[in-house]
Amino acid sequence: MSPYEESTGHVSCPDCGADVPVDPGYRPWCGKCGWNVVPLRDESRLTAYGRILERVATTSGRRFGATLFAEMKAVGAGPAPRSGLALLGWATAALVNAFGLAVAASGLALFGYGFVSALAFAPALVLLALAWGFRPRLPEKPIWIAPREQFPGLYQLADQVANALGAPPVHAIAFDGDYNASFRKLGWRGRSVVTIGVPLFAVLAPQERVALFGHELGHGVSGDPMRSLFVWSAVNILAELTDVLRPQSIWDPDPRIGGLVTAAWNLLMAGISLPVEWAAFGLFFLLRTSQQRAEYRADLLAAGVAGTEGMVGFLDRLHFGGTFQFTLERVAALGGKGDVVKELRRRIGEVPARELERIRRMERAEGSRLDDSHPATVFRLELLEARPATTAKVVLSEEAAGWLECELAMVPEHVKRRQLEAYMRSLYQ
Ligand SMILES: [Zn+2]
Ligand SMILES: [Zn+2]
Repeated sequence: MSPYEESTGHVSCPDCGADVPVDPGYRPWCGKCGWNVVPLRDESRLTAYGRILERVATTSGRRFGATLFAEMKAVGAGPAPRSGLALLGWATAALVNAFGLAVAASGLALFGYGFVSALAFAPALVLLALAWGFRPRLPEKPIWIAPREQFPGLYQLADQVANALGAPPVHAIAFDGDYNASFRKLGWRGRSVVTIGVPLFAVLAPQERVALFGHELGHGVSGDPMRSLFVWSAVNILAELTDVLRPQSIWDPDPRIGGLVTAAWNLLMAGISLPVEWAAFGLFFLLRTSQQRAEYRADLLAAGVAGTEGMVGFLDRLHFGGTFQFTLERVAALGGKGDVVKELRRRIGEVPARELERIRRMERAEGSRLDDSHPATVFRLELLEARPATTAKVVLSEEAAGWLECELAMVPEHVKRRQLEAYMRSLYQ
């Protein structure tokens, strides 16, 4: 390597000696041996037990991920095949929820009996406190809902897409300041809400915006029984129960009763809590697998509405999550005065192709994790490539695209800046 090349940004790979180009501000990496493609995960702070779980999540995740990918490639957007494992999961969830209800019911009954015999109050309160911990957690309400009258273009697009999908129309569209989008059912009546992060929506081309709605509304097309509040609630009950049962440590240095008796008791409790905890993990991982399946399925449904090209473009944009984070950091460093969206658009235009290639390689090398809600974006793109290409059913006209742009500008500033402000607050804590 000549000194001239050194100064224009080349280094030698420390592993294989190959020539590595350097883009200022980005991680250098070797295309030949893969050096520095994946940042090292810091596992030093994990306990031995945490490391076991980490290994389960990664190695089983790779295996499950590959099986799921093969299944999606064969089945496409059709309904998930029935599996014995899912049935077992559902039955477990039913049993656990029944247990939760039984705890609440006996707590109430004992409390009532407390008026006959005051001795019953103490165990009643214990059971009621436990039942309170078991209560299902409903998803958080969105921070700002776009009113239908002020955002006619946006709702029209959502209705068109829902219609093309054969999905029920969305009840509300919400905005926030994240580089993300989501579909949720809110409240006991399960009203559907699509939440759109302004920064993500702002960097999408018109047909990619159709794809975003296609994906989110695709989640509403068919309810996968494993994704329901019912299963989440069971996971929560098992996790709460583990917390209650598991002793802080086996050996108590300052025991109230004899040290050996306490240790034996703690050992027993640890033994009881372990299967409960593993049941929680099992159910959680099952839930995650079915969530990942739902993501693939929503992608395929969206490709059918927005066309494969629009959907691929949309997924490609998801690779810029790191650029968004970096933009937040830069704007925060300047006192938070800049316009995040404007700055993000500029920075995305400047990301070197080589950095995008590194992100794709990193995702492929890391594979799927069992505890992730989404499959890695590279695999989502590969699935679209593996399935027959589709043309768009909903095409955004130039006029409609123009409306959307105007409506996007109407989202209040505090909504757009929410992530930035949360990030800045985190700096001062
Ligand atoms: Zn190398
Ligand atoms: Zn999704």
